[in-house]
Amino acid sequence: MAHVKPILPEKDCAHCGRVMVWRKAWAKNWEDVKFCSQRCRREAKSSKASDQSRK
Ligand SMILES: [Zn+2]
Repeated sequence: MAHVKPILPEKDCAHCGRVMVWRKAWAKNWEDVKFCSQRCRREAKSSKASDQSRK
């Protein structure tokens, strides 16, 4: 009697590299989702702006 979990698509966040598992909220734009959170999206944008080599 095994429970079969539905297999959800997943991909890595373009900023922090964390695995994002498909969410219903992303159903409409999963293809466009690149970041796990708004924070990552914002940070990725700002870090790309000028200082790429800084760490
Ligand atoms: Zn992220």
